[in-house]
Amino acid sequence: MALIHLFRRCNQRCAFCSYPAEGGRDPAPSLKAWLKEIAAMPPGLVQLSGGEPLLAGAENLCMLLAAVKKLGRRAELQTNALAAADLPASELAAIAKTLRAARGYFNVNFPAATAALDLKITRAPGGFRKRTAGVRRLIASGAPVRLTHVITALNYKQLPAFAAFVARELPGAAWVQFSYIKGLGRAAGKKYLPRYAAVRPYLLKALAACEAAKLRCEVDHIPPCFLGDFYRLNVDIVKMREGRDGPHLQEKARVPACRGCRFVKLCPGPRKDYIAVHKTL
Ligand code: SF4
Repeated sequence: MALIHLFRRCNQRCAFCSYPAEGGRDPAPSLKAWLKEIAAMPPGLVQLSGGEPLLAGAENLCMLLAAVKKLGRRAELQTNALAAADLPASELAAIAKTLRAARGYFNVNFPAATAALDLKITRAPGGFRKRTAGVRRLIASGAPVRLTHVITALNYKQLPAFAAFVARELPGAAWVQFSYIKGLGRAAGKKYLPRYAAVRPYLLKALAACEAAKLRCEVDHIPPCFLGDFYRLNVDIVKMREGRDGPHLQEKARVPACRGCRFVKLCPGPRKDYIAVHKTL
């Protein structure tokens, strides 16, 4: 898997964004440089990230996605979907078509089910309305749309409301990933990292709501021991069962509280940045 940061430019200023690092300047977008970066990275899915990738322009993105396809690799186009609300229809259609050809999908970071909470997290005025409109256009474009809902101290109590919002307002979304925040960059430290035990009741209600609405979902960075009957939705389980290498092994570690756990062979443990803050599960 390869993660490429195209540039730092972004149309949001998320409170806990772990990229870009403060300071530094963006080089001009360069297809050649991006391709060189991809070629040097491990095989598998190519994740195009930013900043905000849709700000690279349709022509650049289509060339890049076509090159990814030529390498025989799949593409994930990460976006906050704001720009998707205003892209000319022909440009959006071209991006979606090239993405589909690369067996790819849009991965939309969708942080809240209300405008007030969206603004608190992304600090983008009008962002909630635009994002909702943008996601509807992405879904209509025909490429699969994954919604990633990053769980933080700011939004975990609204997890059931988010599940209900997606089921009601965004029909056609391919799946939802509930992903506990990575405690890196501006998200390092205690402020944004709630205890798993605090998140658990809200997450279980959200997962039950998804199940009832037949909305496919999965969970990342929250260990299966906090997922009750939904433990199979933890994305690490398949990777562990198949003996795959990857960031899940480097970023996570078991703690003494894991001793005797029934999932011990299927779970690499909590994230190390979580352990740094909370010491245990
Ligand atoms: S190994 Fe540890 S973190 Fe993972 S499920 Fe078991 S107790 Fe939880």
